[in-house]
Amino acid sequence: MPVKVDMDKIVSLCKRRGFIFPSSEIYGGLASCWDYGPVGVELKRNVKETWWKAIVQDRDDVVGLDTSIMMHPGVWAASGHIDNFTDPLVECKSCHLRWRADAVEGKKCPQCGGELTEPRMFNLMFKTLMGPVEEEASIVYLRPETAQGIFVNFENVVTTSRKKLPLGIAQIGKSFRNEITPGNFIFRTREFEHMEVEYFVKPGTDEKWLDYWVKERFEWYVKLGIRKENLRLRQHGKDELAHYAKDCYDVEYLFPMGWSELEGIANRGDFDLTQHAKCSGKELSYRDAEAGEKYVPYVIEPSAGVDRSVLAFLVDAYDEEEVEGEKRTVLHLHHSLAPIKVAVLPLSRNEKLTPLAKEVFKQLCPNFMTDYDDSQSIGRRYRRQDEIGTLFCVTVDFESLEDKQVTIRERDSLAQIRVPIEGLEKVVEAKLKGEAFDASPLWATREK
Ligand code: ATP
Repeated sequence: MPVKVDMDKIVSLCKRRGFIFPSSEIYGGLASCWDYGPVGVELKRNVKETWWKAIVQDRDDVVGLDTSIMMHPGVWAASGHIDNFTDPLVECKSCHLRWRADAVEGKKCPQCGGELTEPRMFNLMFKTLMGPVEEEASIVYLRPETAQGIFVNFENVVTTSRKKLPLGIAQIGKSFRNEITPGNFIFRTREFEHMEVEYFVKPGTDEKWLDYWVKERFEWYVKLGIRKENLRLRQHGKDELAHYAKDCYDVEYLFPMGWSELEGIANRGDFDLTQHAKCSGKELSYRDAEAGEKYVPYVIEPSAGVDRSVLAFLVDAYDEEEVEGEKRTVLHLHHSLAPIKVAVLPLSRNEKLTPLAKEVFKQLCPNFMTDYDDSQSIGRRYRRQDEIGTLFCVTVDFESLEDKQVTIRERDSLAQIRVPIEGLEKVVEAKLKGEAFDASPLWATREK
């Protein structure tokens, strides 16, 4: 049974090992803004690349898109965001802290017990000014979702991709929401990244496709190593559906603060295309030449947060184990997510070992994200690599100078095998693809 981890441990590991730092830290930080460090940026990229591969590369019915963050303000009027993208806000009359009304039980301030104001609707979109003249006409919004960039390009993509429906359009990019109560580390921030698909289908087939995508997305997290018992599905009640949604499921994860949304999969019906057609005056429908019919497609939208996924993967991978009487903290990250695949560790910073160790590094780094570390004791370096989830440590020792072999140590089993330097990248490649680590029992030993 892995240990149950609290958020403080994750935040501290992220800071200590270079996953995530508070933004603008030397100025005291900026509330709920975070920066991804050298290891964190690799993890985040891997989450996005794994998603893109599953959604775009491995399928022939989804294509990609990358649209601008700032869009014509008419987009947000048509989508309903200007009128409806609001949360009910209450303010404490004593300490002036602000709260989301639906997150507060009763009528007292959770901080000081003071009286709260009546709720007022607060729009979550960030506004900024485009161009040098500060006038109403130049107000633009930072997008709160990437979806609208997809809807307004529907016609462009269908025409140029020459694909038939059902067709998905996928996008990864930054979104901005002026959340009233951000928090829980990177769970809820005001600037975050979305991974969204708008999957356009023939009306009448939408319920079937919603089921399909709910299963598909749930399984994505499981395939990437999240334990099934920490995931669940929750269907939205009629009263909580967003203004555009016909139906919606959340994939929820058991975060340290409790079950919370990881991803939403919504049936948006034909709301968005109909609205944009009405407000832009451009027809947005699909003509099926073979069937001789024309219709406004329905849309199924799996919408996930990159940062929230990163957090779930970190929490689920975190473990503390006892190895030979010592505590070891380890991230059992899936091999496609682990920031560093291999670390090359010369036994010591010895002038005889360094050239060979550097050679081994150069041999591996074009193939895998590889780290080179020759500072401190080998034990401490193993601990560091375990804490960042590095899959394999390759140790170059004095024997290596003679026999031209190195020791590979595997993160999870701690098994070690000795293999020739020549062709090392092929061995690592095979191990990454899942070849059993103790394939050569002659060499396999437990770490001492
Ligand atoms: P919540 O109810 O948690 O505010 P939401 O239902 O408004 O989220 P969606 O609009 O469905 O969220 O966005 C899809 C996904 O985007 C969410 O499941 C989450 O992973 C991510 N997400 C949304 N808002 C934020 C945020 N402020 N910070 C980080 N990730 C977010």
